[in-house]
Amino acid sequence: MLVSDVASEALADPKISSWTLQWADVYPVNLPLAVIHFREHQGKLHALQSGLASRSLQAQQMVHAHSPEVVVLVIGESASATRWGLLGYGRDTTPQLAQQQGVVVFSDVVGLSVLTRTAVPGVLSRKPVLKPSGDIDLQAEPSLVQAFAQVGYQTHWLSAQSRMGRHDTSISLYAREAADVRFVNPGTYQHRFHMDEALLAPLRDVLAQPGRHLVVLHLLGSHFDYALRYPSSFDHFQPSLQSAPAATDPARYAEQVSNSYDNSLRYTDHILAQVLNAVQQRGGNSVVAYFSDHGVDPAQGQCASQKPNRRSEAAYRVPAFVWLSEPMRTQHRAQWQRLQNNAQQPYTTRALYATLLGLASINVSGGLPAESFLQSPAQPLPPRMVAGMTGNLVDFDAARQKSACSIVAH
Ligand SMILES: [Zn+2]
Repeated sequence: MLVSDVASEALADPKISSWTLQWADVYPVNLPLAVIHFREHQGKLHALQSGLASRSLQAQQMVHAHSPEVVVLVIGESASATRWGLLGYGRDTTPQLAQQQGVVVFSDVVGLSVLTRTAVPGVLSRKPVLKPSGDIDLQAEPSLVQAFAQVGYQTHWLSAQSRMGRHDTSISLYAREAADVRFVNPGTYQHRFHMDEALLAPLRDVLAQPGRHLVVLHLLGSHFDYALRYPSSFDHFQPSLQSAPAATDPARYAEQVSNSYDNSLRYTDHILAQVLNAVQQRGGNSVVAYFSDHGVDPAQGQCASQKPNRRSEAAYRVPAFVWLSEPMRTQHRAQWQRLQNNAQQPYTTRALYATLLGLASINVSGGLPAESFLQSPAQPLPPRMVAGMTGNLVDFDAARQKSACSIVAH
């Protein structure tokens, strides 16, 4: 178990309240726990890090001509697909993305877990350092960052998540694979976070450099506390927790939480559009992909009652899209067509790995995994296994049919 895998330990420890468990993934509440775990598991972290550095994906670019010069992977945070206007939500939370040409939004994608640290590694790597279940894999493989570096891309990791993560989380081990690593937020929780727009200047700085670039952008997105994630100009849905004190009436408070959440999504929509515009302005062949690590349980409605060890369907359903620049769409017509054909197919977020490498014509030792937005899913569909707060693995589609409010069996 890695560092701050508080959830499963906390379950076994009656001294840790369910309140702590519920907020275990929320910075900065988890910080003291993370530090304790960091000290305990430092040795294991070093072993993981040197193991990763010693292994090679032996990546090769099969076709160099017309391959993308810029590839951007945006890792989102806590966005539920059920709350995206582009995916049928009743409110327009994605007005700017809806205006963009060249975007294919995937409507049936599930995250690997409901905690950032176990949801992200399995997207970046075929054999992640931390599995969705929370188990450490000492034989873990490097991520797609290494693959892009091996075929000549300059690699950049720009993160709005906490600097603490550089040292203590499963995801920071992958940030180290990039040549250029920048955490735009301060390291201690006494400071207020910058918002995601703090990533745009570093991104434009990268795009102004010649050569081929892979950029990973790690957003704060809709990380709790939602009302802190967007500027006042995005305080669109009212009443929110930014414009008014928290109501004492539970129904009124739930409405404020819900509005604040939707406002944070509208701000993410703005950030994503800014990323697309910046990449587009550079010209040439380029790819931008986005996924959210996991969603959240809704604050209102029949699934609103949160218990620490279960999550609803909405906490697993995440938005994901792939954008190709106009020259890329023209020169890769077959791939562009396949992305559009597959937009409604069922996937997990693991599909991002082979999609990005496939679009860049990069192969790795052992071949790319079958799950890719460039491929129709196998028939019959392999079970989409997801992990809950306690690490137990569940077939998402089977669990959803039993109860949409309780994906993870007890
Ligand atoms: Zn997360």
